[in-house]
Amino acid sequence: MSKKSIWSQLVQPEKTSGENFQSLASSVERASTVIFPDVKSLRNRNWRDKSQYTYGLLGTPTIRRLERKLALIEGGESCVLLPSGLAAISLTLLALLRSGDRVLLPTNIYEPAIEMAQFLASSYGIDLAFYDPLQPHMLEISSNTRLLWVETPGSVSMEVADLSALAAIAHEHGALVAVDATWAAGIALPVFELGADISIQALTKYQSGASDVMMGSIVTRDMMLGQHLHEAHVRLGMGVSPEDCNLILRSLPHYKLRYEAQDIAARRIALWLSEHPAIAQVLHPAFPGSPGHEIWRRDFSGAASLFSVIFQPEISQAQIDVCLDALQLFRLGYSWGGSVSLAVPFDMSRRIDYPYRGKLVRFYVGLEEPQDLINDLNQALSTVRVR
Ligand SMILES: *Cc1c(COP(=O)(O)O)cnc(C)c1O
Repeated sequence: MSKKSIWSQLVQPEKTSGENFQSLASSVERASTVIFPDVKSLRNRNWRDKSQYTYGLLGTPTIRRLERKLALIEGGESCVLLPSGLAAISLTLLALLRSGDRVLLPTNIYEPAIEMAQFLASSYGIDLAFYDPLQPHMLEISSNTRLLWVETPGSVSMEVADLSALAAIAHEHGALVAVDATWAAGIALPVFELGADISIQALTKYQSGASDVMMGSIVTRDMMLGQHLHEAHVRLGMGVSPEDCNLILRSLPHYKLRYEAQDIAARRIALWLSEHPAIAQVLHPAFPGSPGHEIWRRDFSGAASLFSVIFQPEISQAQIDVCLDALQLFRLGYSWGGSVSLAVPFDMSRRIDYPYRGKLVRFYVGLEEPQDLINDLNQALSTVRVR
């Protein structure tokens, strides 16, 4: 071959493997095109096989590394990564349900998931029904029920569900069990030991840890089910960025330590709130009297630093809004899992089974000093006059 122009040399890929370099950092392998050494290997490469690389959308080594670690954390066989926690929920529903199938959703489910399920019901003939997560014995499973959804605890109203009881009933009727276990974060609840088939995580939360990445995962106990989800994932073209995966890979080694330290801080703050005259009830699964607390004690080994409070019924939303506006360290905003503490007032008027008379505010405890957070709550709550 004739001598190549430097411009051709510049665009050709360099051979880097085999160089004498090793570090502790995970590297970011980005790709759209994956190149093949010859035509035969191009023709033989199988996109369904996750141990092979075919195209950027189907995964690069960085993406595989994060998938393997997440499957390891939860004790699952396979993992699929999606651009958000909500996308992980949507893909699970889309991949598993056909028209005429029923999906059972708990009344405490993450609200955007209801909208997706309602869309599937109205556009694709999915049969949608709700159940009370605190009454597993009331569960009615029809012969067309394909999927039972569980969110434990509910990420706003904090009911802890009896996963093993629910899974036993579902399996008896041949239905699959998917658990949105974002609160437990792969740390505090062994979802597969308790009977789940599918574990959903919003990695956006503790696994990312810095309020700057959106991602979701679906981990399955069974390889075949994982393969089915992988194929649906590829068909929908829902890839994730290796750069984002690397941000999560950087956070994973210390997310359990953060989770545990924040758990301790949040319990201290929730206890302080439970003794405040403006607060009627603290909804924290580790607190006696919180819905499903006995199940939490039986099944969980820890708690997220996310809990809710119910204000005294005579305190109006306007008064609560003034109180929340007075917060200085707690910031106002959705999502959670980062360093900064957050507060969100939730309008529970859409929940038909909301059992409380007072208004609900959800708190996320971040990494600030707990005493500073208590002082912040104390000054903000002083704006609320309690009779
Ligand atoms: C945040 C969250 C989701 C959605 O995750 P995103 O990455 O924000 O789309 C789903 N379920 C639960 C329980 C969550 O807390």
